[in-house]
Amino acid sequence: MPPKLAPVWLDYRARLLALVVALVGLVLWAGGLGAALGGVMGDEGAAHAVAAAWLTASAWALGRFAAFRCPFCGKCFHWTLWFANPIAAACLHCGFEKWRDPHAARALGRR
Ligand SMILES: [Zn+2]
Repeated sequence: MPPKLAPVWLDYRARLLALVVALVGLVLWAGGLGAALGGVMGDEGAAHAVAAAWLTASAWALGRFAAFRCPFCGKCFHWTLWFANPIAAACLHCGFEKWRDPHAARALGRR
């Protein structure tokens, strides 16, 4: 049985999943789903409302993912003032590796 993830990483996974769903939706929309939906519903206004809601939700998901804080140092995990890496395997501030248990790391007193 794999070791249990710390709750902070479960939250990270939920944020990442929301962002991936939002991006897949945007790609599908750009691929013609919006036009098809507007044709099925027969009302372009409703399709535009759905598009606006999806864009808003996508921006929210992106902001929520970007705001994820390192469970070890408390700073933004994926970006610094001059650099951003949304797929970073470790905190860009302290080097704390993704998926590690922050409580165990603190108990050990090292990263
Ligand atoms: Zn950190």
